[in-house]
Amino acid sequence: MKIAVFSTKPYDRKFLDKFNMDNKHELIYFEAPLNANTTNLTLGFEAVCIFVNDKIDAVTIEKLSITGVKLIDLRCAGFNNVDIEAAKNKNIKVTRVPAYSPQAVAEHATALILTLNRKTHKVYNRVRESNFSLENLIGFNLYGKTVGVIGTGKIGTAFCHIMLGFGCKVLAYDVYESEKLKDKGVKYKTLDEILKNSDIISLHCPLNSDTKHLFNRLAFTKIKKGAMLINTSRGALIETCDAIDALKNGQLGYLGIDVYEQEENLFFKDLSESIIQDDLIQRLLAFHNVLITPHQGFFTKEALDQIAIITLKNFTDFENGMPLENEVKL
Ligand code: NAD
Repeated sequence: MKIAVFSTKPYDRKFLDKFNMDNKHELIYFEAPLNANTTNLTLGFEAVCIFVNDKIDAVTIEKLSITGVKLIDLRCAGFNNVDIEAAKNKNIKVTRVPAYSPQAVAEHATALILTLNRKTHKVYNRVRESNFSLENLIGFNLYGKTVGVIGTGKIGTAFCHIMLGFGCKVLAYDVYESEKLKDKGVKYKTLDEILKNSDIISLHCPLNSDTKHLFNRLAFTKIKKGAMLINTSRGALIETCDAIDALKNGQLGYLGIDVYEQEENLFFKDLSESIIQDDLIQRLLAFHNVLITPHQGFFTKEALDQIAIITLKNFTDFENGMPLENEVKL
């Protein structure tokens, strides 16, 4: 099957080619993102492969239906960037990689917590310049702290286990409660109770109309003063301007984000020689208690292997007319 792969980086090629046995599928790689302006590139392709910042809105879907695309396969878990209803109306199937390595993202959330807390990113540079002082490096023990987990699906569950391992008290909020996590000692609470009682809050729910700007001005007034907020899920769970205000007045003590509401024009690119036009990210970067990573939670060898295997399986299933195990349905 001939597939147009969008937003391609060298590592995408490496891992997809590795598992595309006997060149079963003809993969044509484009560095460009797929959006309403680039649909012409899909002429002659029955299937496209996309990533987190490709924008497949109703207009793009309309154009894809004209170029003849029948399948949109996301090589990621989140599908908030695809208008599923519009795709359904045009009879275009949408598949994704629902699970590849929840541990990869959960471990990255943990890395953000430990780095913000013990300031290893700063001390690395200081020691290289022969500054061995401990000034401004005081952290806190994770042991005994209360960690609030919002969304206890695959990644949230892996994260709960890690936090329990540190000896934290783990509170959780989800629209569905996990009996297995309860047996391990996780306590489900209301969202307000999580906000009020947690020293650290980590977001692991999807972005949808219920969760967009879950962390807004009101939510920040409800958190424990000086709490830490970690977001490895999707940027728009946090209203960035409100987070900046909460950081300025000290209500939010630390912010660790692997995702950012306006990451589309920034992340996965080397912009070191550019003038960044996004003033919000520049403001965030100016805080000593903010740590930003460029959507790298998924970026482990194990996860990339699984993403490539499942992405290709989705194409094979479609080509063979098999049931689409990983189809995104309304
Ligand atoms: P999942 O579907 O297994 O779990 C999501 C959980 O959120 C479910 O338990 C669901 O019931 C819950 N949920 C849904 N709506 C909610 C709400 N309104 N309030 C509270 N909980 C709610 O998904 P997952 O595999 O654990 O992934 C979680 C998110 O992580 C994805 O949606 C994706 O956006 C993000 N993600 C990020 C990276 C990265 O590299 N940073 C990689 C993979 C996934």
